[in-house]
Formats: sequence, C-alpha cells, structure tokens
Amino acid sequence: MKAVILPGFKQGYKIDKNVQEPKAGKSEVVVKLRKAALCYRDLLQIQGFYPRSKYPLILGHEMVGEIEEVGEGVEGFKKGDIVTSLLYVPDWTCDNCKMGEEIYCNNRQLYAQELDGFFAERILVKANSLVKVPPGVSDEGAVVVPCVAAMIYRGLKRANVKQGDIVLVTGAGGGVGIHALQVAKALGAKVVGVTSEESKAKIVGKFSDYVVVGNKFAEEVRKGFGEPSIVVDNVGGPTLDESMRSLKIGGKIVQVGNIDPSVNFSLRLGYLVLKNVELIGHAGATKKDIVDTLEMVRQNKITPVIGGEVSIEDFDKALDMLKDRKRHGKILIKP
Ligand SMILES: [Zn+2]
Ligand SMILES: [Zn+2]
Repeated sequence: MKAVILPGFKQGYKIDKNVQEPKAGKSEVVVKLRKAALCYRDLLQIQGFYPRSKYPLILGHEMVGEIEEVGEGVEGFKKGDIVTSLLYVPDWTCDNCKMGEEIYCNNRQLYAQELDGFFAERILVKANSLVKVPPGVSDEGAVVVPCVAAMIYRGLKRANVKQGDIVLVTGAGGGVGIHALQVAKALGAKVVGVTSEESKAKIVGKFSDYVVVGNKFAEEVRKGFGEPSIVVDNVGGPTLDESMRSLKIGGKIVQVGNIDPSVNFSLRLGYLVLKNVELIGHAGATKKDIVDTLEMVRQNKITPVIGGEVSIEDFDKALDMLKDRKRHGKILIKP
C-alpha cells in the first residue's frame, strides 16, 4: 500500500508504494482511509522538530475512514463504521483518564510519534482512541475535528469563553484559524479575524464580524471594534506581542500556533503582568470535545473550509499548498 514515511530523524520523507498492509491485533482495528488532513505539525516533524519520535514512522495524525477489520477484544465498533481518532491513545485507566482528562493520560501514546500515523491507504488504530462519526457529518467535516475544531473548542473552554465575548483569531485564513472563527462564533462570541494576506480577507470576512489585514492589528481592533477578552493565537512569535496589546485587562491568550520554532522572540512581561494577561499554552482535545464538536459540524455550526486535496502519491504538492501563504483552509490527503 501507499504511505508517507519518515525514514529517520531529520531524514526528510518519502512516498513509499510498497508498505506492508497492517493487520488488526488485539484491541486494534484497521481503518481504510477516506480523508486525512495535513497539519503544520507534519511539516515541523519533517523539518526535525520531533527528535523523540520512533523511526521509521508513517506521518499524519488527522483522518476519517471506514473500519475494515476488527481485532480481538474490540467492543463497540464493527466493520463498516465511519470513524476518526484522538491524536493519542489513552489507557482509560489512570487517574487523569478517570477524571475525564485523558489528554493528560499518564501512559498516552501519540500517533505519528510513538505509533504509526495516518497518511496511508490502510491505518492501524487502537480501539482506545476511536471516535464514531455520526451520520450527517461529511468526511471533510469529520477530518477537521480532532486536531482543529475540537482542539479550539477545548482551548476556548479553558479560556472560559462567554456569550458576547470578543474573540480575536490570528492566522485566521489558515487551516486552524478559519475553523477557530467558526467555533468561537458557535460558542456565542463576536469574532475578529486577523490575516497577514490581503487575498484571504474575503474568506476570513465570511466567518468574522470584523477583519484586519496585517501584522499590526492591536490598535485597529481596539478602536474599530472593541477590546478582545480572548485571543486565539495561531501564529506565535510574529503575532504574540500584538495579541497581548489588543487584549482588554484580564484577557486571555490561547496559544496554539508556533509556526517557526527556530525563531526567538521576546515576551514583554510588563504587558503580561500589568494587564493581568493569562497565557494559556494549548494543544489537543478529549474524546468528549471531539464528540461535542462533531455535533456542531452536524448542525452546520462549523463548515469545513478546504484549501486543496491531493492523493498520497502527490504529497509533495500538499506540502507546497501548506507553505503557500496565499492559500486558505485545510489541505486534505486522499488515498
Ligand atoms: Zn494536526
Ligand atoms: Zn490514562
């Protein structure tokens, strides 16, 4: 079968057409890929920012597919079910799992790091991480949930978003940002979309109450629309300072983006301290977050925005699309 493989640390990637088909072992299923999605993390992994991964490995951690084979001991799932997966495998038995915080599972294993990932025609998935996709949710709608919409949903809950809050989203035209606008809106917020690209202003405007183009956005937002109580920062170094400036006193930053981990930037502690800003580092979602967010997709409160789709053998093109700053939305991979 075809798969995108990382052969070793900092050894790039290869599109391998002769990867062995997986077999479902105990508590595992084999899923036939319908759609996978490309994530900025995939690019960072190729660039060598994940030294502690097992190599070689299959890349990719966002997918929707159909169960083709069910291993021994799997309960609640059968052949033909349409499923997606958490980004990690919880044990469901440790203290954190029992408290509904499986995201902090003491024994969690991450797909595409400790386990093979999802850019393959057939995928080995642990039953512990499976989530059923309800009828009425499209493949495009499902694939943007676990790493994007549900992650933002959890981040906004951690920031205690309330009806009528102003939520500002940076990198609003990107695969995460364009869905973050919609999740914030679905949770009752007024949303401000910030994009660095004029060409993305239209699509950002479709999901925002107010749009700013450019990297200096704090003054314009405060004067033109109001002071945000929450910023979802999808970019990182280039925007964090303006994100803090834009916030009202006591505001919160949900930091999800770090598009170039090699760039150093300074954090102005004066702003953080005197404005009582809460900086929330955030990644991931629980199963309940995913189930809740799939329901929001089913109710059309979140519409998947897809910027392109290529097959596994054209993975090069998918990477080019991800790096193309003028392209909006999520890039999908099909078998
Ligand atoms: Zn991702
Ligand atoms: Zn656990």
